[in-house]
Amino acid sequence: MRIDLHTHSNLSDGTDTPTRLVLNARNAGLEAVALTDHDTLDGVLEARAAGRRVGVHVVPGVELSTEVDGREVHLLGYGPRLDHDDLNAELARIRLGRRNRLPAMLDRLARLGVVVTMAEVQAQAGAPGTALGRPHVADALIAKGEVVNRQQAFDRFLDRNGPAFVPRPAAGLTAGIDLLHAAGAAVVLAHPGIRGMDEVLTGDLIEMLAREHGLDGIEVDYPLHDTATRDLYHRLGARLGLVRTGSSDYHGTGKAGHDLGSVTTRPPAFHELLRRIAERGGVAH
Ligand code: AMP
Ligand code: ZN
Ligand code: FE
Ligand code: FE
Repeated sequence: MRIDLHTHSNLSDGTDTPTRLVLNARNAGLEAVALTDHDTLDGVLEARAAGRRVGVHVVPGVELSTEVDGREVHLLGYGPRLDHDDLNAELARIRLGRRNRLPAMLDRLARLGVVVTMAEVQAQAGAPGTALGRPHVADALIAKGEVVNRQQAFDRFLDRNGPAFVPRPAAGLTAGIDLLHAAGAAVVLAHPGIRGMDEVLTGDLIEMLAREHGLDGIEVDYPLHDTATRDLYHRLGARLGLVRTGSSDYHGTGKAGHDLGSVTTRPPAFHELLRRIAERGGVAH
């Protein structure tokens, strides 16, 4: 059984529609896939319907933006109830913040001599309600011929330390875990070893999240985690009783090196996650 638990559609910064993503998952030989768009559940119903048609188990999910000590940390929530008011309010708040920070980013770009309009950024989004982000600004820069790919846009302008970066709201890390749990989700710490996240996500902090907030799991296998990093989180996760997952973080053509099913979760870990979703009152299908 092949399982990929971290993917993005064009309801956030992936390039596939939810339906296309599920078809691609089946064609990649996956039997289960979680849709985990950034700060939105809007693609879940469509993905689930496609999954029923083609025989792929689609787990509803979300990748929640959180922060701790001013640094970005991503949480994967699996199986939240789609009608949970507090979760939906928080997701809506973050999506609005995503949109509202864009004019300041475009101002910064303009001062660097690179003129991009809101309409040009919006044109890169898959749907009117898309959770807009820096990748859509990157796509607008590609469309204008300023850069050749998203990575170059981040390297030149959009990176956290780049000249056009503007922060946006996020949930608090521990509040985010509690909120996802309240909505019935099992919560997995996403890609703890990338982009210097480990500077804030120390072993002690992860231990506190597990012991005091019931963190369910940790994404151990990930395209950008090297062998030593995977070993480290495998051992930490085992010691803390965390479910250890593996995923591609597929973004369609938006991110190279993240092919669907290129990294997978072992069936026992998947079934333990499903068990925890059921226990928390969430929806696993
Ligand atoms: P945003 O949520 O709008 O701040 O954009 C964050 C998204 O941009 C992340 O989820 C990544 O997919 C991508 N990203 C962030 N930093 C980088 C980077 N240095 N290089 C490439 N992609 C990045
Ligand atoms: Zn993304
Ligand atoms: Fe992420
Ligand atoms: Fe992701």
